[in-house]
Amino acid sequence: MADSGTLGATGRWTGGPTTDRRAVLKQVCILAAASVGLPSSVGVRIALAAASGLRPSVIWLHFQECTGCTETLLRTSHPTLSKLILDLISLDYHETLLVGAGRQAHDALRETMEQRVGKYVCVVEGSIPTADNGVHCKIGGRPAVEILREVADRAGAIIAIGSCAAFGGLAAADPNPTRAKGVSDVLPDKTIVNIPGCPPNPYNFLGTVLQYVALGGLPELDEKGRPKFAYGRTIHEHCPRRPHFDAGRFVRKFGDEGHREGWCLYAVGCKGPQTHANCPTQQFGEVGAWPVGVGHPCVGCTEEKLLWRTAIHETIPVESPTSPAFYPPVEPTRQGVSPVATGVAGLVAGGLLGATIMGARKLSRKHMEEEEGGEKGGTAGREKGT
Ligand code: SF4
Repeated sequence: MADSGTLGATGRWTGGPTTDRRAVLKQVCILAAASVGLPSSVGVRIALAAASGLRPSVIWLHFQECTGCTETLLRTSHPTLSKLILDLISLDYHETLLVGAGRQAHDALRETMEQRVGKYVCVVEGSIPTADNGVHCKIGGRPAVEILREVADRAGAIIAIGSCAAFGGLAAADPNPTRAKGVSDVLPDKTIVNIPGCPPNPYNFLGTVLQYVALGGLPELDEKGRPKFAYGRTIHEHCPRRPHFDAGRFVRKFGDEGHREGWCLYAVGCKGPQTHANCPTQQFGEVGAWPVGVGHPCVGCTEEKLLWRTAIHETIPVESPTSPAFYPPVEPTRQGVSPVATGVAGLVAGGLLGATIMGARKLSRKHMEEEEGGEKGGTAGREKGT
């Protein structure tokens, strides 16, 4: 006989014995919320929704893609995919994970669309070819573009997972023979949540879906449809190599001394200064690894204008060169660094080259104070510049 306990707002089960399954569910939800930076109260709300049987139905469509986005989801551990599927969502159609095939799979899709009108989440993986009436990608004899329009039309929410679904990705790179597009270009009148990345971080996807489960709505999005909780800041802002950037210590060649010492990868093409993503804090693959962490420049895979559009070795302008106050103190070397390499050419000079604007300002003021101090007998030099 099942117990009749309920999950309170504080996350404690009351009125009945706590079962292992419920305790695990609560833990999973709180962990899932925490993993994407959401407060534990949201985790509790997710657990409440899941415990009351509110599991959103998900239809997952595959178009022009490599299945890397699904592969990355398969590697989540908090929650694991089995927990996600069994406890938190109802994955009703997914061409890679579905046990059935052919007619069975087609029926599962059709049934979900008919029975859950306006309630299911449509997840799209891959770009959509639009040339020649969409003949370049067909499933069950129907063009992808036709399937997308039909499934999206009855969906409660639409999520484009990965850079191909979000912005067209590799298939849309020049010369784009299939005229591949992202979901928002095919459905310009709909609200699309974009979770770009190649592959995207699975926790950004889970965080979005779980918020939808718990709060009944979508997270706040930026101007490119990306959830702000995950894409609100650039990689450069949280990069562990940032003190080296600020100090003007750059890798010049793969395998050189700077590379071995873990210096900044900007001069070998890192796109971190213009790339909005939480890779430095979330990382990948459950082992604490991510491209910049293992010595490869960021390729800007979450940005429409960078991935497959800007060469990996090409340097880019620095979007926000101001360093946050909580970084370690900057001790620039006196050797000087190319202004092009720092991306703030013209703002720093001579011995201050390589520092960011903030670092340069601090040093400039200190320098002026020292000079003033010299002229005024050292009185001004005691005031601290910031
Ligand atoms: Fe990190 Fe790249 Fe910024 Fe250097 S340029 S600090 S490697 S994000």
